[in-house]
Amino acid sequence: MPDPASGPVPNLTLLSPLEQVQGVGLRRAEMLATLGLTSLGRLVAHLPTRHERHEEERPIAELTPGQIVSTRAEVTATRVIDRRPRPRFEAVLHDGTGRLDVVWFNQTFLAQRIHPGHHLRVQGALRRVANKLQLANPRWEIIPESGGPAPREARLRPIYPASEQVKSWEIEAAVRAVLPSALPLIEDHFREAFRRERSLPALAEAYRMLHEPRDEDEVRAARRRLAYDELLFLQLAVFMKRRQLRSESRAPALKWTEAIDRHIRQRFPFTLTPGQEEALAEVVRDLTSETPANRLIQGDVGSGKTVIALYAMLLAVAGGRQAALMAPTELLAEQHFGLITASLEGSRVQVELLTGSMPRAERESALARIASGDADLVVGTHALLTESVRFRSLALAVIDEQHRFGVHQRAMLRQKGADGDTTPHVLVMTATPIPRTLAITLFGDLDVSTIRGLPPGRRPVTTRVVAPEKRREVYEFVRRRIETGGQAYIVVPTIGDDPGGVGEGEIADVRSVLRELEAGPLAGMRLAALHGRLKRSTRDHVMARFRAGLVHALVATTVIEVGVDVPNASVMVVEHADRFGLAQLHQLRGRVGRGSRRSVCILIADGSTPESQQRLRVLAETNDGFVLAERDLEIRGPGEVFGARQSGAAALRVADLMRDRDLLTLARRDARDWIDRSPRLDRMDESLLRRRVLKAHGAEFGLGDVG
Ligand code: ADP
Ligand code: MG
Repeated sequence: MPDPASGPVPNLTLLSPLEQVQGVGLRRAEMLATLGLTSLGRLVAHLPTRHERHEEERPIAELTPGQIVSTRAEVTATRVIDRRPRPRFEAVLHDGTGRLDVVWFNQTFLAQRIHPGHHLRVQGALRRVANKLQLANPRWEIIPESGGPAPREARLRPIYPASEQVKSWEIEAAVRAVLPSALPLIEDHFREAFRRERSLPALAEAYRMLHEPRDEDEVRAARRRLAYDELLFLQLAVFMKRRQLRSESRAPALKWTEAIDRHIRQRFPFTLTPGQEEALAEVVRDLTSETPANRLIQGDVGSGKTVIALYAMLLAVAGGRQAALMAPTELLAEQHFGLITASLEGSRVQVELLTGSMPRAERESALARIASGDADLVVGTHALLTESVRFRSLALAVIDEQHRFGVHQRAMLRQKGADGDTTPHVLVMTATPIPRTLAITLFGDLDVSTIRGLPPGRRPVTTRVVAPEKRREVYEFVRRRIETGGQAYIVVPTIGDDPGGVGEGEIADVRSVLRELEAGPLAGMRLAALHGRLKRSTRDHVMARFRAGLVHALVATTVIEVGVDVPNASVMVVEHADRFGLAQLHQLRGRVGRGSRRSVCILIADGSTPESQQRLRVLAETNDGFVLAERDLEIRGPGEVFGARQSGAAALRVADLMRDRDLLTLARRDARDWIDRSPRLDRMDESLLRRRVLKAHGAEFGLGDVG
């Protein structure tokens, strides 16, 4: 029931515009609208990011040094000390029980605002200095001598995301005014028994506890409830999607025989590692079934995922069908194309390349061969997703470096092969090891195979973090390596002469670094530049020469980050390494250590912040991508690490993937059970839950059509 004191408003709903809600007022409603807080529901859903403890007000004589205290008293004297090193404003306060000295450092302007005779309320950390009580840089406000605000009680005050125009306390005031009438309107999507079993408060209660908590325990309980809801919604969407895919569509069950297996393996110049065999067995089991495969193959950089993809694609071709491989960059697509073409030399398998930068005529004829079925294997970039691409009978779509693509692209590629009620199998590969928590969140609808271990003969890459002063020595080392037959990558953050670029003079860039190295440290060596703005033919040419050993060092941007595979390259130098993410540096580093030579990765960084130093040190300490990914996630959060911002994880406002691991496990189990019982969430008492899940994730997962 709405609180009668705030006045029952007829027909009030959570959708009611704020200006019509009693207690808000037109002016404040307008202000709140600048933050997007236009309705009652939106205001209540605007959650505090943290809470500040307010101390109970006490007379000066009762204050305890060493604590955060709150008191009110009269200003009896002030002075400004306007000299270095610590210019400050001082005030002496008395309240009849004692004296309190207050000092504000670097705020001499307060002399214009605070005068003897003013009554102040102050809160801050109390110290005893030279036998006097002193409060340094307290929060303060001027209050009337009498009839001021009631003495403050100890309470937790919510701090809201606010703006220059709309302060947190104004939001707080508005929330306090509407909360009594809003709370009864909040319906819970869980039954009480369900909540009880999980010790979750009711939804309305959770909102109350965040906006007006009685203590920290309430804040925690409320957070836990809302975080659980977010995680459960996401997992419900994931399992609904999975169900939908499995129950509504069929994929071609590919034939596997020992003869086919032998035939395919014959194409590989090595025997598979046990880790590869294990992943391959899972893939084969998927592909020979009518249930559409939806599998993530993860393995550290260099663990040998490409060969698994190739095997799977050849299985499709052996069955008279087509397979496609989508890569995140043209460079990688071209490399895959070259590698696959080379290993299929002399066979009848037709391989096609499709990228965005292909000349029109070339593209048209490629499209025609894809549509007619003349092309057996198609390797491409995003260009594969465009409207005009039609396959004759796509049985398998492989997406390399999945972390660069979202659920969306996966669905789009899947659609490419859908005809009637069949759909292709989908395999996705990622070389960015994904911490389990995040994998579940981002790719929860996928089965996961993990390739453990690296191919034989690999030696771990030695990583060093060095200061810019050591650059000369670094390049002397590179020079010696090249002189003894090695090759190097030199990675720089930006391309030169870039009008839209960072524009800071000291930032290294491809062209200037190339020029500098040619003129000095690497004079006489053959260097080449590689970056995303080069024409494909130029890029091809450069890569071919590098692969053939004709170019000694590539000065490149991160276009070489993923997939590039030149075993003879055994040195990598990364300029301005502090500008890159950990996962990214690990990827980059994965370009070396692919041959039998001892490989070195040198990160040049001035490590100006302790955080960046700490990050880079982790890289020097471990070669294990999984460990790194966990660390990166801890340091930077999921949004930065895996492009998670464009994915389901973006909807997580309260849940924190690091902190709430246990909750995620719980939500995942609950979601699975729930969808087992009610695959479409279409039972009568689930309509509210269903609506909320679809609102949060329907579009992303293509679930809107579920009913
Ligand atoms: P990633 O998992 O990073 O995509 P790749 O598939 O590019 O790794 O493989 C890395 C390198 O290891 C390639 O040069 C590849 O030919 C080689 N390789 C893959 N599997 C094996 C194996 N079983 N034995 C030896 N070399 C292998
Ligand atoms: Mg790869």
